[in-house]
Amino acid sequence: MSIWKEESFEDKIYDEVESFFNIHELKEEDETLALDIIDSLRDKNILVVEKDDNNYGYLIPLLYASKDKETFKGFLISTATIFLQNKLKEEIDKLSKLIDVDIPVTVAKGHVNYVCMKRLEKYLRSHQENKTLNEISKKIGKEMIDKKDYPSISNEIWTNINININGESCKKCLYRDECKYYLNRRSWPSASYVICTHELLVASLKRKDNPMFKDPSLLIVDEASILKEKVSNSYEGYITKNMLKSIINEISYIIGDKELGEEIVNIIESFYDKLGTLIKSKYMSEDNNCKIYSKEVINTLKDDILLLFNSLSNFRKELGFYQNSGDLIYLKKLLKKYTNILYDMVGKGSKHIYYFHFQPNSKNSISIKYGRKDIYSLSASLFANNKYGKVFTDSNMIVDNDDYKAFIESLGLDKIDNIEIVKEYPLGKSKVKNK
Ligand code: SF4
Repeated sequence: MSIWKEESFEDKIYDEVESFFNIHELKEEDETLALDIIDSLRDKNILVVEKDDNNYGYLIPLLYASKDKETFKGFLISTATIFLQNKLKEEIDKLSKLIDVDIPVTVAKGHVNYVCMKRLEKYLRSHQENKTLNEISKKIGKEMIDKKDYPSISNEIWTNINININGESCKKCLYRDECKYYLNRRSWPSASYVICTHELLVASLKRKDNPMFKDPSLLIVDEASILKEKVSNSYEGYITKNMLKSIINEISYIIGDKELGEEIVNIIESFYDKLGTLIKSKYMSEDNNCKIYSKEVINTLKDDILLLFNSLSNFRKELGFYQNSGDLIYLKKLLKKYTNILYDMVGKGSKHIYYFHFQPNSKNSISIKYGRKDIYSLSASLFANNKYGKVFTDSNMIVDNDDYKAFIESLGLDKIDNIEIVKEYPLGKSKVKNK
């Protein structure tokens, strides 16, 4: 029964889409793409296809599919920038009128573009003279404050007031019942028609048990050639002296034992001093920002890294004697994460690549940065499900001999078993299609 129903759903869309393209005399390439999209919806395969900047080829079949609310679970479109998200939303609005479909489209933007009530209030305490921030403070209870509407705010100020998911925990924030961002974000998991950024797509796919977006019937990744960079970025992290010190200080404050953290803070200071001296004396010719990828740095400071690791581990053990509060649990988790990273740096079979970022004029002049080595298999695991079709598209995917090989390998799609990868070539670029 259900097979018959699904076939009839797609058959209907093929007819409707073909007829729409005929009536409106749209480009042949877009019609071919539109029919390929319906194939992917039906077969739940991975479709890799180069297209021009026009999005009609995938929007039209998605909108026809959206008419059948029973069979079609929705779409998730991921793209590179807020500008492109807004453009897609405008195109959907325009096509929806032509196709006579009425769907609530959610544009999910990244948190860094919005002001955090809690951080704004904290920053304003020492910057009361700033008129724009005072203006924002009056509005923030009523609407989300978007960076694009306040171009006069410098990046330096912005990084102090925007939403910083890594630094603040929304779940335990006192403002969460009135925070427009938090309330908006809570609506995402139930939204059926979503345009998100690549960063949010990756973040959602990584949270396998608790994704930010529900499974669609079809995922479209537009501007797909930069997705690998976004996946890679999502696994990167950094540790600065101030981050470690502030975790120790906050924990000491919470447990009411200032002395417990004092020795550790000295070890942290001494480690970063040594790291700075080594980098300046051996790896820098000028007093400029620099990135140093060097195993030699780690080997030279191996004993110091181990000392820091052991001290942090012992500190964590001592915390077992204190009663856990929400804040303490959160800080202990962070501390565990950074302690593990330090161990991974000097241990055998490290999962990460490390580099040292030196910025002489910044508050955190040295950061230990890390990223994952196995990014291809991590990326493959994000897309290795056969619950829905996935379309990867861009205007610049075919690099050598008209083949998508480099793109497919960059995301580890070739490592996914049991899911067919269909490569479609734009008109005039069909050399490899039948090989
Ligand atoms: S809920 Fe999150 S984003 Fe909103 S004010 Fe609190 S910390 Fe900031």
